[in-house]
Amino acid sequence: MAIINRVVIQADDCKGCGLCVDACPVNVLDFADSLNAMGYRPARYTGAGCTGCGTCFYTCPEPRAITVIRNTEGLEDGYCPHCDRDVKLLPGYRGKGSGICIECMNPLNSR
Ligand code: SF4
Ligand code: SF4
Repeated sequence: MAIINRVVIQADDCKGCGLCVDACPVNVLDFADSLNAMGYRPARYTGAGCTGCGTCFYTCPEPRAITVIRNTEGLEDGYCPHCDRDVKLLPGYRGKGSGICIECMNPLNSR
């Protein structure tokens, strides 16, 4: 089984406080180039190097902003129309579709 530790940040649930960015021990978080729906510049995963340690999750004051994925725990198999291939999906929530592609981070119902 492939190791795919990573963190998924729900951009519209992030208030851009930067606590996770400062707390990450391997410095794999930074800020997005664009603003989210609330007008904040959200944190984002740079795409490689997450150890799955969970520090960012425990640091974040927003309950649903950060999900840490360790290996394939909690993931579903599915097809992503954005990536045009079979991928691992993070189950969706709060009307964000049937899942979120962990490769491109797009909700499956966003196109
Ligand atoms: S889980 Fe740990 S290594 Fe991964 S982004 Fe969060 S703080 Fe950084
Ligand atoms: S700690 Fe949470 S709210 Fe603050 S920047 Fe990181 S994800 Fe956003």
